[in-house]
Amino acid sequence: MHSEHKKTIVIVGAGIVGVTLAWYLSKESDSKIILLDKGHVAQGVTQHSFAWLNVSYGRPDGYSQLRQQALASWHQLEKLTHGEIKINWSGAISWHKTDKETQEFINSHQSQGFNIQALNRIELQAMEPNLKISPAITAFCPDEGSIDPVNTTQTLLKLAIKQGVTYLPEHEVLSLNVSDKRILGVKTSEGNFIADQTVVTAGVGATGIINSLGITLPVSASPSIIVHFTKQDTVKMVQHIISTPAMELRPETSGKIVCAEDYIDEQPIHSAVNIAQNALTTIKNSFIGSNTLTLDKTFIGMRPMPKDQMPIVGNVADFEGLYIISMHAAITLAPLICQLAQSEILHGVKHAALGPYRLTRFASGN
Ligand SMILES: Cc1cc2nc3c(=O)[nH]c(=O)nc-3n(C[C@H](O)[C@H](O)[C@H](O)COP(=O)(O)OP(=O)(O)OC[C@H]3O[C@@H](n4cnc5c(N)ncnc54)[C@H](O)[C@@H]3O)c2cc1C
Repeated sequence: MHSEHKKTIVIVGAGIVGVTLAWYLSKESDSKIILLDKGHVAQGVTQHSFAWLNVSYGRPDGYSQLRQQALASWHQLEKLTHGEIKINWSGAISWHKTDKETQEFINSHQSQGFNIQALNRIELQAMEPNLKISPAITAFCPDEGSIDPVNTTQTLLKLAIKQGVTYLPEHEVLSLNVSDKRILGVKTSEGNFIADQTVVTAGVGATGIINSLGITLPVSASPSIIVHFTKQDTVKMVQHIISTPAMELRPETSGKIVCAEDYIDEQPIHSAVNIAQNALTTIKNSFIGSNTLTLDKTFIGMRPMPKDQMPIVGNVADFEGLYIISMHAAITLAPLICQLAQSEILHGVKHAALGPYRLTRFASGN
């Protein structure tokens, strides 16, 4: 018999992180879960993500192991949602500036136990028959994949609502309601919400919310460019995620191509459109059958980037009833981190796996 009163949990932000958390919380408890967003689901940086479920380009240390576990969590989520979440487990092919660097990359990952294989020219050609360039050695990570970030987030939200979550778009959180170091809920553009637990998953919007408590959240808005290309014919030009010093692209289920590019600066010459046009030239020089490829749209997305690039997960200082999840590579990490966070929020346990990622690590000024 349950003696506890039914808890109310307010989640601020309906990007991949807030929605995934809402899904796990509503699966595991009968708490009242309210998911608020100042706009609409997946319309923050999540919509602009390249959405590569990526392990190989995380650092080869404990954080990389975390990302490895995150792939297992995506498989588990895929099963738990009975395949409603569509993951393209295509695998990723990459190479570096020189064959020597690629070989070193493969060796260092293999020595860490990662499933990474070296491909020779013939193997590469068989896997990517339209590729015009062909380095002597390339790295293949068969376990990696990608999602459609908007579709996945919307699907998870639909399932979370079925599990009892209340989703309220167009509710901007203006401040946290605090009494004697206890967070009692939030004040929004549409009124107050009382909560036993408030969880901030507001992407780059988290800094303002947390800073209002007099606590600095060491997270900045880090720009990165996403480009969508469309093709007149339906021939699948690219089969895998491809990452090279010149380009980072992947196929979409629709046959379109999506490409991630580094943001340089504000100069007009480095505008998203100019960078996208350069990427188009690179792709056309690199793939057979790319002559009908055209630029569809391009955006600059603002990633929540913790100062040391590692996730921030857990309680906030001495404030009771407040939890935060803020991370870069949140598409890769969302199911794993949100599953762990769910049990910390519901049961007050502390997972050792999250130990290195507490906000307190910044207290010493690192
Ligand atoms: C070009 C690009 C490529 C990327 N590639 C990858 C990749 O390959 N793999 C990967 O893992 N990650 C990648 N990322 C990063 C990834 O997209 C982000 O880490 C992730 O989307 C962050 O999700 P989020 O839910 O934290 O934030 P968001 O999606 O921004 O969600 C936060 C939500 O909070 C809401 N909000 C903000 N303030 C308030 C407020 N005051 N009140 C109410 N609601 C509020 C916003 O409206 C928004 O909907 C990429 C990002 C970019 C831009």
